Amino acid sequence: MKNIISDLFKIKYPIIQGGMIWNSGWKLASAVSNSGGLGLIGAGSMYPEVFREHIVKCKKATDKPFGVNLPMLYPQIDELINIILEEDIKIVFTSAGNPKKYTQFFQEKGITVVHVVPGLKFALKAQDAGVDAIVVEGFEAGGHNGRDETTTLCLVPMVKKELSIPIIAAGGIATGKGMLAAMTLGADGVQIGSRFAASIEASSHENFKNEIVKAKEGDTLLTLKDVTPVRLLKNKFFEKINDAISKGASPEEQKEILGRGRAKKGMFEGDLIEGELEIGQIAGLIDSIEPVEKIINDIIKEYREALEELKADKYKF
Ligand code: NDP
Ligand code: NDP
Repeated sequence: MKNIISDLFKIKYPIIQGGMIWNSGWKLASAVSNSGGLGLIGAGSMYPEVFREHIVKCKKATDKPFGVNLPMLYPQIDELINIILEEDIKIVFTSAGNPKKYTQFFQEKGITVVHVVPGLKFALKAQDAGVDAIVVEGFEAGGHNGRDETTTLCLVPMVKKELSIPIIAAGGIATGKGMLAAMTLGADGVQIGSRFAASIEASSHENFKNEIVKAKEGDTLLTLKDVTPVRLLKNKFFEKINDAISKGASPEEQKEILGRGRAKKGMFEGDLIEGELEIGQIAGLIDSIEPVEKIINDIIKEYREALEELKADKYKF
């Protein structure tokens, strides 16, 4: 499998692991890279020295390319940028901010820049900023998400129609068939989050991983749309916030209920009652916690089988 995305990152398969906060430490990133995909260290939940530690450990654990996800709303972003430069990181995925701010700066230092967007308007802005590729993330995706509710099925072809840069589809993809569907719609590669959150190597808590496996269709919803739109598993905290919203709580009141560190509490410390459990709709299809190597091999096997299946008579009209 060789295409524009595998060439861009010098990887075997155009499969990129989501840089999910609290889930994407060096163990997950290096395992994905060692298995032929592109691993990303999720910087959003790491204090600068923790971030550096994960980069150093990732370099020891793999000789394959890996990158980092840098949310632009990170409080001390300059410190993270210095670490990226000092540690000679060559691939940066930016998110949650204006791609015009750092794209050129990174590219002048020989870094490949990809920006994550939830809609066409932002995709055009990222292309204008000169990014090397974009991740378009549909409404199915877990965690922080767009307000417009555009699904992957709609978003990918709409972006493909308007843009000329390589497209990585995200949101709702966990299987080979899902990957092939996204590629058929116009994607050049896929970014996968939820499936890797339920892996042995993810840095998230065992309790959270078990909840992903237990989740059924309809168990996640987008909430906090006026504050920070986020798709969560329904738990006690979710009910508390949704109840307040339905009773007309203001954004300030919602922020107060949210407080600080809910994502850490839920995903990293395994507090299934009071924590935020960020996961995508596709969790309903994930029924086991697996090693990363098996996840990627299974995706590629199913992708190839599905490609063959498309030659069957039922697809010919
Ligand atoms: P640990 O510090 O518990 O390290 C786990 C073990 O892996 C250690 O014994 C370590 O040994 C070992 N190790 C190091 N390098 C390798 C390698 N190349 N191959 C095999 N084993 C290796 O946890 P982490 O390394 O996962 O995390 C470091 C810190 O980051 C922790 O404080 C953790 O809480 C935090 N963290 C933060 C996350 C976030 O999103 N904010 C996510 C994940 C972790 P040695 O001590 O010798 O390196
Ligand atoms: P909160 O403000 O609720 O909590 C901050 C959490 O991040 C705490 O758990 C804290 O750990 C940890 N943390 C890690 N590094 C730092 C730092 N340098 N300064 C302060 N806190 C730090 O934030 P959330 O949990 O809602 O979000 C965490 C991060 O996720 C954001 O800072 C941002 O980087 C990222 N994010 C990314 C988005 C995207 O990419 N689309 C969207 C929204 C958020 P501790 O408890 O140990 O102090």
